[in-house]
Amino acid sequence: MVTITELLADPAIKAYLLHMVGEEGIELLMRFPEGEEHSDEELAEMTEISLNTVRHTLYTLYEKRLAEYRRLKNSETGWLTYLWHLRLDRLHGVIEGDIRDALEHLGARLAYEERNDFYICKDCGVIYTFSDAAEWNFECPNCEEMLEHFDNELIATALRRRVEKIRESLGSA
Ligand SMILES: [Zn+2]
Repeated sequence: MVTITELLADPAIKAYLLHMVGEEGIELLMRFPEGEEHSDEELAEMTEISLNTVRHTLYTLYEKRLAEYRRLKNSETGWLTYLWHLRLDRLHGVIEGDIRDALEHLGARLAYEERNDFYICKDCGVIYTFSDAAEWNFECPNCEEMLEHFDNELIATALRRRVEKIRESLGSA
C-alpha cells in the first residue's frame, strides 16, 4: 500500500495533486486516516479542514476515481451517510492516462500543422489554411490585403519537441 507521504516525495506527483486539489486538498490527503473510511463531516472534524473544502476535494478525487464512497442508510431515520475512502493506489495510472491524453491532443495538433499549408494577413494577424485562403482568392476577407504564405515550421518544431519529451517521460520513445 503506497502512502501519501511516499507519493508526495515525488515532486512531479506533488505538483499534479496540488494542481488538482490545492494546498488544503493535500492537507486533507495527508490527514486522512490511512486505510479508513469516514463521512465528510467526520473528516472535516478530525482534520480541521472546512466541510466545503473536504467535500470539494472528495468530489474532485472521485471524478478521477481516486476516492470512492459507500452509502449507508439509517434504517430508522432513512438518512443516508456516505463513507469515503481513498484510492491513491490508482494515482500512477490516472497520471499516465492524463499524460497519454495530452500526448494525443498534441499529436493531433502537430498532424494539423504538418498536413496544412497556412496563409496570413499581416494586417489582421489572422491565419488561414490553404483551402480557406484559396476560397478568398488569397485576399483577406476582413481588409482585402493579399494573404502571404505563413511558415509554421517553428510551431511544428515546438510541438514535435513537446511530443518527444512526453514520450520519453513515458518511456516509450
Ligand atoms: Zn486582413
